[in-house]
Amino acid sequence: MIQLIRGFKDILPGEVELWQAVEKVARELLEDFGFKEIRIPIVERTELFARSIGEDTDIVEKEMYTFPDRKGDLITLRPEATASIVRAYIQHRLYAKDPVQKFYTIGPMFRRERPQKGRYRQFYQINAEIFGVQSGLVDVQLIFLLVRLFARLEVADVITHINSLGCPKCRPQFKAALSEFFASVSDQLCADCIRRKDRNPLRVLDCKVPACRAAVADAPAIIDHLCSECKADFDEVQNMLQKLGVPFVVDKNLVRGLDYYARTTFEIQTGSLGAQNAVAGGGRYDGLVSELGGPDIPATGFAIGFDRLTELTGLAASQFYRKPDIFVAALGDKSRLLAFEWICALGDEGIRAELDFAGKSLKSQMKRADRLAADHVLIVGDDELAKGEAILRNMKTKDQASIPLDGLVEAIKNRIY
Ligand code: AMP
Repeated sequence: MIQLIRGFKDILPGEVELWQAVEKVARELLEDFGFKEIRIPIVERTELFARSIGEDTDIVEKEMYTFPDRKGDLITLRPEATASIVRAYIQHRLYAKDPVQKFYTIGPMFRRERPQKGRYRQFYQINAEIFGVQSGLVDVQLIFLLVRLFARLEVADVITHINSLGCPKCRPQFKAALSEFFASVSDQLCADCIRRKDRNPLRVLDCKVPACRAAVADAPAIIDHLCSECKADFDEVQNMLQKLGVPFVVDKNLVRGLDYYARTTFEIQTGSLGAQNAVAGGGRYDGLVSELGGPDIPATGFAIGFDRLTELTGLAASQFYRKPDIFVAALGDKSRLLAFEWICALGDEGIRAELDFAGKSLKSQMKRADRLAADHVLIVGDDELAKGEAILRNMKTKDQASIPLDGLVEAIKNRIY
């Protein structure tokens, strides 16, 4: 038997109802905040991710599903959505009419990480991006939206971590201080970090290797090196979060895995998922639009781990199961053909109707109706056909009524609604 590829999964009925419910809540909230849906391809040129995410990141160095297409062009299964949304924003000149645009997208991402609970090779994200606004207030709005979403989804035990990554003006001094610090602890760093510490020392801060994590505990903090504009921006972000009643902690080592972030960066973490403690993350990436060939337009956004959200939500899939409204127990070929017409018409009227096609006994059809937890059963056999009516039984109250075959679909509709 051919099995799933490791790190990939099926989301089966029974579980998918929860995914649909979570998605519905997220869509409604995002649209209430003015985000419009954008759908982007699953595959892009490798170069797009290499340039935007950054060559020294774990994602680009180790985790991308990259392969040559039949003509030899290198293409990659998207490991995240921001790069593609920025590409679309530039390619379709979406900024031309109004640079301020808010987008969201929901879909699968692919990273070849070591699979474990909460970490998959195909996972799903809910992404939101805001283009064209320089103010830190929109970063606050994104965090507020996330916190409200988690509250609506009854996700307990979440903490918002924030940091500022500075800007191209203040980051070089900080990077130099960081490189100097890492040189002093280089005997404790992994081979990747020894290479990264000079080229891209920020990457060392989010290395997952335990020895590196211990070594960075005493590293200098970027918030002590911010320029006056970045400091004012970060102060405003913190003040506004407080005003909105959003609890947060400042986390000096929060740099996140992608290179294009600037100023506010944030992550929502949970104590309930073991090692995979990030449910959502995001931040400002002011340089990326111009880096990818567009105009100099600031941007900010977040990605929520959809799989992790479904593992954390207090909602249960069973709350969203939809049972059949009616099970038609038809006895004999003639009744079954008539019943078949009814279930088609009922489905078209928004009434979920099921029928047994195998010609089983009434007893076994009633058992099936019970198993499916149908609210009503409609019974029709030769006797009923002769009388020109069928019997409708309410499975909860056990009440029975005769329904004339003439106009039956309409009569059932009226009774069920
Ligand atoms: P990132 O794009 O790395 O900032 O990730 C954003 C969110 O996506 C994280 O906070 C996780 O919740 C989720 N995520 C990232 N990688 C994985 C993965 N391999 N499996 C499941 N969820 C993931």
